[in-house]
Amino acid sequence: MPIPFYSLDAQHAAVADALREAHEAFMARQWFVLGEGVQRFEAAWARCCGTAHAVGVGNGQDALMLSLRALGVGPGDEVIVPAHTFVATAMAVSQAGAAPIMADVDAETGLLTAATVSPRLTPRTRAVIPVHLYGHPAPLAELLALTSAHGMHLLEDNAQAHGARYRGRPTGGFGAANATSFYPTKNLGALGDAGAVTTNDAGVAERLRRLGNYGSSRKYHHKEVGVNSRLDEWQAIVLDIKLRHLAEWTAERRRLASLYDEHLRDVPHLQHPPRPREPDTAHVWHLYVVRHPRRDALQAALRTAEIGTLIHYPTPVHLQPAYEGLRHRRGDLPNAERWSDEALSLPLYPGLSEQDVARVAEVVRRFGRT
Ligand SMILES: *Cc1c(COP(=O)(O)O)cnc(C)c1O
Repeated sequence: MPIPFYSLDAQHAAVADALREAHEAFMARQWFVLGEGVQRFEAAWARCCGTAHAVGVGNGQDALMLSLRALGVGPGDEVIVPAHTFVATAMAVSQAGAAPIMADVDAETGLLTAATVSPRLTPRTRAVIPVHLYGHPAPLAELLALTSAHGMHLLEDNAQAHGARYRGRPTGGFGAANATSFYPTKNLGALGDAGAVTTNDAGVAERLRRLGNYGSSRKYHHKEVGVNSRLDEWQAIVLDIKLRHLAEWTAERRRLASLYDEHLRDVPHLQHPPRPREPDTAHVWHLYVVRHPRRDALQAALRTAEIGTLIHYPTPVHLQPAYEGLRHRRGDLPNAERWSDEALSLPLYPGLSEQDVARVAEVVRRFGRT
């Protein structure tokens, strides 16, 4: 039997009855945008992140872009993002009218650190966006020390770390505003596009809400030029139902990650995903990413065994054609480039069996002996 890279079957089975019932009520109510479902989910998501406010938006990139705009970051400003991330982190900065500045990542963790951000600071730097890549919390303490010393904002990109903890507190609650995506394959996923921003600042929350609703907080009165980026009522209802299972799904991801670690011990040249080193800091295993110098051959061996894998991400952001204008060259940000060259994501999702993990690991072990 082939092992797909990803399957939502187990998650759907857990919520199918609740979704069917909720869908009937949703159709009967005929309220599709900004209804009680959105309010309920926003309250639940704010609780999950330990913040005073959550504002639902259309997707993760908009969550980042609107956060920047709500904080007053725009044309003439620079915002530092990691070169090793999904491209939306950088594109949101461009969308807000600011300049994304790519920083290298730590060789070991693949995350932004104070040491990798510092060389990229200029008098125009207004914000830094660390990404909790693959579910691994970025070192927020040192990054916050740096941003507050320079009077800059920190915004978390929490798209891959739903339910993660950093030094005892949930991620998504540390920055001036924190963005997330509920793209269907994220740890908490909608049945389509969806996103949210969390903040403790009532003024920022209000401005975010306005910016995502044509700059309006009163019908037909438009205070500033906004966009249409709202969390769908139906997606909010789905997310509220799925959120009740997130802790249990995260526990399953952790169990599977530990199992991979065990099975893959002592495979020559294979690097395991790094574990958090800071106290009371918990990974949520959005992805289980190994590194290997012959990554493409390893991926081919797994493909031959009918095992699905993906590469997150094959091209670092600074070398994407979209950012040609920044005139980066290969070699500029070597750690990010090395991650792109060597990273391979193995199947890991709620419902993946222990036998499947063993089968994947066996193919990797066999490859390691060649
Ligand atoms: C998924 C993702 C986004 C973008 O989310 P969309 O909802 O697809 O716009 C941004 N940053 C990271 C790190 C992501 O993984």
